Amino acid sequence: MINYAIQNNRIEWECFCGYKIKAQIYYNCEMIERCNSCLREYVVRNKKGRIVVLTMSCDQAIEQIEEHSEFLQDLKSKQMVWKDESVDFKRDIAKRSIEKLVHFSKVENIVGVILCGGIISREVRNKLVGEDSKCHFFAVRDVERLDEQLEGISCSIEHPNQYFFERKRSQPNSLWCVLTLSPDLIYCKETLFYHYNAASNIARSLRGEQLKHFNTIFNEQVEDSYGRMLRRDPPKKMCYPTSFQAEILVKNFIPWEKILGINFESKEALSKAEDWLEPILELFGREGIDYLSKFQIAPQFWEMIDERSFE
Ligand SMILES: [Zn+2]
Repeated sequence: MINYAIQNNRIEWECFCGYKIKAQIYYNCEMIERCNSCLREYVVRNKKGRIVVLTMSCDQAIEQIEEHSEFLQDLKSKQMVWKDESVDFKRDIAKRSIEKLVHFSKVENIVGVILCGGIISREVRNKLVGEDSKCHFFAVRDVERLDEQLEGISCSIEHPNQYFFERKRSQPNSLWCVLTLSPDLIYCKETLFYHYNAASNIARSLRGEQLKHFNTIFNEQVEDSYGRMLRRDPPKKMCYPTSFQAEILVKNFIPWEKILGINFESKEALSKAEDWLEPILELFGREGIDYLSKFQIAPQFWEMIDERSFE
């Protein structure tokens, strides 16, 4: 949603290009306004005094998702198929006390997650709303997927990929959240494991779907993209990967039910997200979804864990 101001029945907001757009607003109306500078189109809806301004691309994206509900349901059922070694996976996950996978995202994307009934991959997003969609409910993390694994949803174990997260959240005007996910996703049939970040050649050469690939993430030492050996030294918690750049790619879809928590850095960030999401979801008839029960304050995900230890 876009922030606006209203005065004397006139609504005003700033276009993404920086130009100010002003329009007359009526009670219970829906209108399309165009930026006079960049020609970007906006939808303004006033439903009984509840006003939402969206870009046209977001409005169209939401329509597309409604049309593709069966396709999304299909993706969800595919994630109920487990790996052959699932029993062994469960044993090792328990042995290491792994409680969660972690995926971070801009708050805007939570709208997309709620509307789709889960987190979708870049490939699914392209199929639903088109590759060139500007819809910021399905924003793509730009440096993500250099390895062209468009089907993979990038997750890490217990803690975000802290270097990547730090770089992303330094962007101005962005509100981030960290989603914690069920560790069951580890043994979904097509989940892939990388001992280091998935864009690096070294991790790609050793990646795989089996238990042995999963376990390389916790090796006593792993090689990074500079050919250095990173050791589990000083000793780490059993559940932590040897490198926090290790990645788990879940294929295409992570169902809403597998999201354990949507975490914010502070109380202020959480209430900002709440204020932002509520009118949009109400407008699209999703007010019945209890997303607030997943909202939590968890600043620990914003902290850096020291892991310098090269040979
Ligand atoms: Zn503009």
